[in-house]
Order: sequence, then structure tokens, then C-alpha cells
Amino acid sequence: MDNLKADVLIAGGGIAGIVAAIELLENDKSVIIFDRDKEENFGGLAKESFGGMFFVNSPQQKRSGIKDTTELAKQDWYSFAEFEDDNIWGKKWAEKFIDSTDEVYKWLRTKKVGFFPVVHWVERGLFKPGNSVPRFHMVWGTGYGLIMSLIEYLKSHKNYDKLQVLFNHKVEEIIAENGKVTGLKVKNEQNNEEFETFAEVVIIATGGINGSMERVRKHWHKDWGTPPEVILNGSHQYAIGDLHDEAEKLNANVPNLDKMWNYAAGIRHFNPKRENHGLSLVPPKSALWLNYKGERMGPVPLMTAYDTRYLVTKICEQEKKYSWQIMNKKIALNELAVSGSEYNDGIKEKKILKFLSSLIIGNKDFYKELIEKSEDFIIADNIDELAEKMNELTGDNSVDVELLRQSIENYDDNISRGKKFHNDDQLRRIAHARQYRGDKVRTCKFQKIVDKKAMPLVAIREFIVSRKSLGGIQTDLQSRVLQKPDSENNQQIIQGLYAAGEASGFGGGGSHGIRALEGTFLGTCVLTARVAAEDILKSSN
Ligand SMILES: Cc1cc2nc3c(=O)[nH]c(=O)nc-3n(C[C@H](O)[C@H](O)[C@H](O)COP(=O)(O)OP(=O)(O)OC[C@H]3O[C@@H](n4cnc5c(N)ncnc54)[C@H](O)[C@@H]3O)c2cc1C
Repeated sequence: MDNLKADVLIAGGGIAGIVAAIELLENDKSVIIFDRDKEENFGGLAKESFGGMFFVNSPQQKRSGIKDTTELAKQDWYSFAEFEDDNIWGKKWAEKFIDSTDEVYKWLRTKKVGFFPVVHWVERGLFKPGNSVPRFHMVWGTGYGLIMSLIEYLKSHKNYDKLQVLFNHKVEEIIAENGKVTGLKVKNEQNNEEFETFAEVVIIATGGINGSMERVRKHWHKDWGTPPEVILNGSHQYAIGDLHDEAEKLNANVPNLDKMWNYAAGIRHFNPKRENHGLSLVPPKSALWLNYKGERMGPVPLMTAYDTRYLVTKICEQEKKYSWQIMNKKIALNELAVSGSEYNDGIKEKKILKFLSSLIIGNKDFYKELIEKSEDFIIADNIDELAEKMNELTGDNSVDVELLRQSIENYDDNISRGKKFHNDDQLRRIAHARQYRGDKVRTCKFQKIVDKKAMPLVAIREFIVSRKSLGGIQTDLQSRVLQKPDSENNQQIIQGLYAAGEASGFGGGGSHGIRALEGTFLGTCVLTARVAAEDILKSSN
């Protein structure tokens, strides 16, 4: 292992690790990235991600007539985050990020990352204001395209020979001497060989903790009661927080681990990449969201695009903590999607015609695959048959056919009375959503559930799916890892140690507080990694 020498060691080859490496190579530093995963998964979760990115006052917003400002974005962020008073670093990072989205955007453009012209409007807020305006910019190519552009840039870099990427290598320990980090202890998981490697600086970019269901359960937020029996894994199998523990052994502060960004509409992945793999659906706005009994949840109907945390909270209030979405084929084709790079082939493969056809005729291939392969996806010709099949799936007769019928018929009757007499919050929100062109194409016009032109009926059993860790290793505004506060509440840095991306709670050990405005994760990974590299360069000059 004599040739294993570099100026900087990076643990983790997700987007944060890659961005830091690019910035360091750009400035002639030598770098080694260690990643536990296989080479084909270089890029980590970002490669699987939807590729939605939060920008403020972007060219796409301006072209669409969306008036946005950093002041408004900060107001929205603070409203959603509900920051605790002592989360000082989280707040500082939130502000820094909002002030820097333009810089992140421009940096990505120089790496040939392109964006779709229509900006999506997610997390508008329900009881607390969320995104006042649309800010979710889709990468043309999804997260897969984003990562492929960055890897291409890396590989064609004039200093590429200064980079070594070692896959199947697990970082096991952070080595420190007299309080200064000096290297890493690493294990090659293919031949079990262990070795130590040394450098001036180490960056932890190993993702969050949400890939470990054990940790997710341990840190389950008190607002959600006891954890559900089933929680699917929507994160990375190696994002298990082992280096959070290593950093803690060096007295790093690791707050906010109970703050998580989990999703409500997970189904068991039918082509799993990892154990207990969950596929997170973009739930149709026109579907009815019911509890385990087949009863519509409320009093405010559950709908996507307003407050994801509310959805998770409501489901977790139920005796059985999973839910059902009821719709029909027409709604499923028009509105059902996957929140990730998978099953979004048109945009992932950058094929405009394929993408447009999926908007017009629906994602027929995905619908077919769900029928054929997903145990959580049921179709039926009438309500009785649907209830019977739902009960067959759970095996416990939880679904009460009369409650199910009542939930569906009440909603359908409301639609039948005509637009002027719609008196249902879901219908009011559908009317509002359809005023925005980004939603209009993807939201049916007051579609009844039982409608012979739209059959069959569809029921999807949905579990909570773990996703992002909003807390993590606390960092200052240079991405340097901070120690726990001393008796006078002062915090020192750990010399030679940086953290970036999800490992750092997207900056400061929790820059989102309790809720995220969405699409904010990829950008904060880019920013925290760039800042780490910048400070390393500054300190070494
Ligand atoms: C399906 C999906 C859709 C998403 N969509 C969006 C979106 O639209 N917008 C958005 O902003 N965010 C989205 N996200 C979130 C976003 O992708 C992640 O938060 C982000 O990519 C995290 O990047 P990271 O580099 O910090 O960590 P990761 O991507 O988790 O990478 C960490 C890397 O570290 C490696 N590793 C872990 N432990 C060790 C160890 N001990 N030794 C060596 N290597 C180790 C892992 O193998 C992995 O490669 C999505 C996530 C998923 C899963």
C-alpha cells in the first residue's frame, strides 16, 4: 500500500465526495476516495435520485415569470424548518445555502448539467408556509444524468492521474494523534486486507444514517410515536452512520439524528438493489389516501406536494402504520410516478419524445410492471372485489368494505355535484394545482374514482420509507468538524477533519431543522463539499 499517498483522503464517493474531489484536483491536490460500494454505483444516492434541485431566482424561474428572492426563500425555509434555538450552525448553513444557490447552479452548468425548463412546485406548506413559489428544478437526465456529468468531468480532468478511487473499500476508523486527524484505517472488503493510510486532511462524505433501519428506529422522532412495524429502506445500504460514531469517538458533536426526511408512499421494490429496498412513489394528487381500515384520513385530506412530514405523522398516528391509496387506471397512468431516476426513462435518457409521450399517454410500462411485479399494487373491477383483494394481501381483514365504499362514494358524489359545489379540501387543492402549468399536465381534472371510462380500480399499499438524515456531524461554515460544546458552550474544531453532504446533516449538523423544502439535498451536498475543498486549499497555502 506504499503508493497510497495523497494530500486529501475522502471517505465516500457520493455526490459530496465527488464534488470535493473535483475542486481539489482543480487545484492540483492529490486525492484518494474510498468507497464500500462497487464501481458501477459510483455517485451514491445522487445517481438514484430524482434530480430535483432547489434554486432561488433561477433563469428558469425568471423565464416562467416566477418572482423569487433570497429573502422570501429564507422566510419559507425558516417557517418549514422550525429551528430549535440552539441549532445555530444549522441556521447559518441554511442562510449560506440560500445565498449560494446561484453559485451552485452556475458551478453545475460548467460541468454540463442541464435543467428542464418547467420548475416544479413541491412542499407548498399546509399549516406552515412552505415554498411560496415553484423552486424544484429537474436535472435533464435525473440524478443519474447529474452524476454522469460530474464523473465525466472528473475523468477528463487534466489532473485525473492525481485521483485514486478505491471501491469495495470500507473506512473503519479515523486515525488521530494528539487531537489532530492524520489518516484512515481501511479494509478492502474483497480480500479482507486492512491497512492504514495517512494525509494532512480527511473528509467524511459517507452519507447519513437512514440506510440502517436499526438507527432509524433508535432515533425515531417522538412526534411519530413508536416506529412502524415495516419501514422500507429508501436510502443507501452503507449509509449507516459508522463514521458518525468514529467522529464521535474524537468528540465530534452529532446532533439532530431524530430529524429525518422520510416518505409516506413506499412500496416494496420489485427489482431490489438492497435488502428491504423501498421504492418511493410520487403519490397521485387525485387518489384518495386511506388508513389501514379503508377510511379516508383527515380531517385535512392527505395529499402530496404540501407537507411530507404531515403525511408521515398522520400515518404514524394510526394503529397500524401503513396506508392505502385508492385510484383508477386513468389516475395511475396520468399521475403516478417514482421519486427517483428509476422508471422515469424519458427524462433519465434525455429523450424528449419519450418524455412527452409519458405525459400525454401516461407511463404505461411502469403501470404494467406494477401489475405484474408489485405485491403492493392491486387492481379490481369494483369496490367489493378491491376490498377483498386488499384483505387478502394483508391477511388480517383490516379493511372494512363499507368504510372503503363510503370514503370513495363521498368523494365521487362531491365531484358529481359540479365544480361550483365542490366542498372538499382535496378538490380545492386540485383546482389550485391545475392553475400552474407544471402541475396541470400531471393532475387529472376532478377525476372520480369509480368511473367506467377509467377502470380498473387500483389500490396501493404504502409503507413509510426511510430516506434522508436531516441531522449529522456538526460543521462550521468551512465544513470543519466541530467538537461537542464545552462547559462554557464554546466549540473547537477537530484539526484535519471535514464533513460534507448528508454526513454533515447537509451542513452544520442540521440545516433543514425538522422539514425540508425539497430538492435542497443535492445542492447542499454540492455546497458543503465545495466549501470543504476551498478551506483545505486556503489552509494549505
Ligand atoms: C431515490 C432517491 C431520490 C432522491 N431525490 C432527490 C432529489 O430529487 N433532490 C434532492 O435534493 N435529493 C434527493 N435525494 C437525496 C440525495 O440523493 C442524497 O441526500 C445525496 O445524494 C447524498 O449524497 P452524499 O454524497 O452525502 O451521500 P451518499 O450518496 O449516501 O454517498 C455516501 C457514499 O459513502 C459510501 N460509504 C458509506 N460508508 C462508508 C464507509 N464506512 N467506508 C467507505 N465508504 C462508505 C457509500 O457507499 C456511498 O457511496 C434522493 C435520494 C434518493 C435515494
